[in-house]
Amino acid sequence: MAIEISEAQINQIVQSVLKTMPGAKEEKSTQRAWDSTQYEGRTFAGVFTDMNTAIAATQEGYKAVRAMSVEQREKIIAEIRRLTRAEAPIMAKLGVEETGMGRVDHKIAKHLLVADKTPGTEDIQPSARTGDSGLTLIEMAPFGLVGSITPSTNPSETVICNSIGMIAAGNGVVFNPHPNAIAVSNYAVDLVNRASKAAGGPEVLVCSMAKPTMESASIMQSHPLIKLLVCTGGPGVVKAVLSSGKKAIGAGAGNPPVIVDDTADIPKAAKDIIDGCSFDNNLPCIAEKEVFAFDCIADDLIHYMRQNGAYLLSREQTEALEKIVLVEQTGKDGKVRKVINRKCVGRDAAVLMDKIGVKVDSNIRCLICETDFNHLFVQEELMMPILPIVRVHDISEAIDLAVKAEHGNRHTAHMHSKNVDHLTRFARAVETTIFVKNAPSYAGIGFGGEGHTTFTIAGPTGEGITSARSFTRQRRCVMADSFHII
Ligand code: NAD
Repeated sequence: MAIEISEAQINQIVQSVLKTMPGAKEEKSTQRAWDSTQYEGRTFAGVFTDMNTAIAATQEGYKAVRAMSVEQREKIIAEIRRLTRAEAPIMAKLGVEETGMGRVDHKIAKHLLVADKTPGTEDIQPSARTGDSGLTLIEMAPFGLVGSITPSTNPSETVICNSIGMIAAGNGVVFNPHPNAIAVSNYAVDLVNRASKAAGGPEVLVCSMAKPTMESASIMQSHPLIKLLVCTGGPGVVKAVLSSGKKAIGAGAGNPPVIVDDTADIPKAAKDIIDGCSFDNNLPCIAEKEVFAFDCIADDLIHYMRQNGAYLLSREQTEALEKIVLVEQTGKDGKVRKVINRKCVGRDAAVLMDKIGVKVDSNIRCLICETDFNHLFVQEELMMPILPIVRVHDISEAIDLAVKAEHGNRHTAHMHSKNVDHLTRFARAVETTIFVKNAPSYAGIGFGGEGHTTFTIAGPTGEGITSARSFTRQRRCVMADSFHII
């Protein structure tokens, strides 16, 4: 008799056998194996064990999209939005449980933002030119098959946001999601496919891998059917994709600085910064990562931050925390350098404090500390609710240091000021894709700020706040001497 056994079950058995072996370390983490192929008995549609098979299935999905009217595509997108709103709490909870990162309430908000503010087919606008020589039509056509690499920090949000834009543009899409967020990413892939089926589209419109690896990413990058690569992640993967020889959109790392000058509304600036920095435990790449505060307002700023859920670390606590959240790693060149401890990324402030033996109130959502500019808390993209504050004398010093701390990512920067000259000087100097004035960072992706949202912010390749039109290619059709009616 053949017995069917899932990969998750195999993992569980392996783990329990390992635990009984001599010398096995005591299991301290509560980590469990995640099933990337089903949720509560519902098998995910569009999830494959082999990248070549996934691409072949995506090609079929693409053919179906090409045969659809724009109205039909829009029906599918409307259903994706509806299901995303309805199932946001499930994905938020699953995302936190699987990755151990972020906050359920904030992840729900992120999914609702994706459902409500990701542009659909209305984003694709043709244009025309007429003149003595007739009419020229310019249309935004699909690329074909898109290969999308997605992060662990906004996993299902990115899958759904990219799917809406890519389908609106008429493409097929295959995902190679982050291995640490594979169950929730594939939940989102299945959601898109369920929406397609419910709205009269194919049962498998978008595809993914049951076990994504570097190798499956590499097959995707070199496959002749993949015409566009979209990579949302850290510097390593963006570099790899941009070196693929294919058209690629790279949405890479940030390290957003915030300047607070002496004209700012300090109580508001303090609240906005803590709201933004602690949002989903600082996982968003746009979130405030370090503050440059004028010396004359720094004490006030810290005072109001503490009134808004910030805990001021002592020098000793800062040093103790540094030893926990940064760990030594030997690079390929044999040099030892400090890198972020992935086990601390996206954790609650109280969990981080617990690691140094300090209990803090449950209303503490951010840890602040005063450091100098060279401190690794300033220089590294921590993605944790830890916010270093560096005192500066004037706007020139603030801009100089903030630009250096941004490391040329040209990703995101923030400023709290009423001095238009200061705001303009910093915006010009830092050259980021997103620049937020007098608001929490998330205003920059349409949450309390004007404009559409995205979870793929393409600074390096210039598409910026990506939307459906970013996933299109221009095509021109010329009718010489006719259709010119004046
Ligand atoms: P990560 O860089 O660890 O991984 C991203 C994805 O790339 C994963 O699927 C991973 O398995 C894969 N990968 C890694 N190296 C690869 C390689 N050489 N070839 C092929 N695939 C590879 O990302 P993460 O830690 O989940 O996300 C955090 C990083 O991503 C941060 O630096 C953050 O700023 C950035 N990010 C940027 C944006 C943006 O829109 N610009 C959005 C989210 C996250």
